[in-house]
Amino acid sequence: ANASSKPPLTIRLCEPRGFCAGVDRAIQIVVLALKKYGAPVYVRHEIVHNKYVVEGLKAMGAVFIEELHEIPAEHIDSPVVFSAHGVPKSVPRDAQARNLLYLDATCPLVSKVHKQAIRHHRLGRHVLLVGHAGHPEVIGTMGQLEDGAVTLIETEEDVANLKREEGQELGFVSQTTLSVDDTEAILKALMTRFPDVHAPAAESICYATTNRQDAVKEAAPGVDMFLIVGAPNSSNSMRLVEVATRFGAKDSMLVQGAADIDWSKVEGIATLGLSAGASAPEILVDEIINGFRDRFDVTLDLAITAKETENFPVMRALRDVELTRQ
Ligand code: SF4
Repeated sequence: ANASSKPPLTIRLCEPRGFCAGVDRAIQIVVLALKKYGAPVYVRHEIVHNKYVVEGLKAMGAVFIEELHEIPAEHIDSPVVFSAHGVPKSVPRDAQARNLLYLDATCPLVSKVHKQAIRHHRLGRHVLLVGHAGHPEVIGTMGQLEDGAVTLIETEEDVANLKREEGQELGFVSQTTLSVDDTEAILKALMTRFPDVHAPAAESICYATTNRQDAVKEAAPGVDMFLIVGAPNSSNSMRLVEVATRFGAKDSMLVQGAADIDWSKVEGIATLGLSAGASAPEILVDEIINGFRDRFDVTLDLAITAKETENFPVMRALRDVELTRQ
């Protein structure tokens, strides 16, 4: 008599998913800066690529800008936070010239890539950066060195077209949020063409990117639909959509939240894959699961491929605030 009239649905929920340690730290920095200094706190670029997060911080008094000159003269004493994606060297220099108090929320794993690029350069190597043109992380990494010191490589074709000067040594790094498999193919092409190319001392693609892709690979085979929660300008989220399709999901889609779901498109499905990019908060995943529970008799099936324990502490200047939290 209690039999559910809803159709059954198995949700293969990926773990790890969602927030990484770098995103968590960047958001904490804005929240703690608001506590310590009061509003407004300026944030250069979306702190992380997620509308929900950005709107939440705006409501608390954060003001988002693209460039430092947008800070009005009467608020020049307010702090400015640099986003998790990292910034070109010119940005902190500009902040100093303007006498601004700045808090750099660049993820430590992005800073590590910056250091590797600088190291290649110091050793006399021309730097190759594997990444996507226009992404703020790429702009930040290229901006660690003078113009012309870094060449962006987006595809295997770019490798084929690369010209190297007589006697020039090469060293590569990559963006932290690329597809592990695509990057491997590009690096293979690079090492085939230039066997003497120098690798960075540490892998550039970060643990969070790798782990989220691994969990999607585990969950994808055969699912009728795969939903990735994330923003269209979030590199790591877009890669998860590609990975889902490549590893056997019959369909895959990026959604920013439950409101984005076209329910007519999921009618009749029996299995759903679900994960979230590194900048997507868990509340958006919960909302989506609840949306499916309203329409289906849901069984959760976890696709667990790793346990993450990474935690990146905020800078010293904000740690005293953190201690008095709650
Ligand atoms: Fe850092 Fe990786 Fe997260 Fe980017 S995705 S903020 S590099 S941990």
